[in-house]
Amino acid sequence: MSYAGPEFEPPRRPLRRPLTVALAALVPGALLGWVVYEGLGSATDDGRGGPESAAVRTPSATGDAKEPGPSPTEPATSAPAAPGALKGKVVVIDPGHNPANFRHTAEINAKVNIGTGYKECDTTGTATNSGYTEAEFTLDVAHRMRTLLEKQGATVRLTQDGDRSYGPCIDERARIGNQAEADAVVSVHADGSGSGNRGFHVILPGAVNSGAADTRPIVGASRDLGERIAGRFVRATGSTPSNYVGDGTGLVTRKDLGGLNLSTVPKVFIECGNMRDTKDAAQLTSGAWRQKAAQGISEGIVSFLRG
Ligand code: ZN
Repeated sequence: MSYAGPEFEPPRRPLRRPLTVALAALVPGALLGWVVYEGLGSATDDGRGGPESAAVRTPSATGDAKEPGPSPTEPATSAPAAPGALKGKVVVIDPGHNPANFRHTAEINAKVNIGTGYKECDTTGTATNSGYTEAEFTLDVAHRMRTLLEKQGATVRLTQDGDRSYGPCIDERARIGNQAEADAVVSVHADGSGSGNRGFHVILPGAVNSGAADTRPIVGASRDLGERIAGRFVRATGSTPSNYVGDGTGLVTRKDLGGLNLSTVPKVFIECGNMRDTKDAAQLTSGAWRQKAAQGISEGIVSFLRG
């Protein structure tokens, strides 16, 4: 599904946010700016939008939030945290989709309540032209992250480990993080956008207060988590932020994802690249690149948890 949306608005408030500065230093030429992306209900819950999802972009109400992002003066290579530094911390990794979802169409198409409305239980996810599926990708990156984070002493839980016949549904994915009282949750995905659309983006929860969804208490911390992950992902992979959403910041805020809306703990999604673009696909299918991706995401989590 391609990710067509209206033109981006011109950058505003450039150079005011620490991450923007950090990314600008690392990615010269990136468009600077800050917008809130509000996908509408027709987008699937894997972070992908669709041509039918007339995206609305408005100036960020929280764009001046004061939570710290990575400092632009931070050294380019940070020393790894000491082993055991994350003792007592709980990280939930949510590998997007499930390799067997395609065999359970009826179950994954059943609607679940996400507070702001109803959405499919889960989706099959996308795949590269060569047939490497997003579900395989997300599980592989999740396993690599688990190894890295456990080395730091964190307690790591996966929402699924290829051990279910389908799903879990997006509401359960959120619930698993909530019930674990996770200190951080990251949902790992790769996008299925049009060819030529490249790069990663981190999806942050927008402020939602509707039905069972109330993200207001987690918006600030999730933004902090997401900014740190985006910064470390750039460093670890050398990837540039998405050239098709987020105005070059690698950050997008959404209010239509059940996995974020129903979370009561700090949580973000990351779309590591676009499986439908051959250059991005070459990276996503490389084990060496996936190790760097897992490292970048994990370093962002470590940075967030250590403050
Ligand atoms: Zn996905």
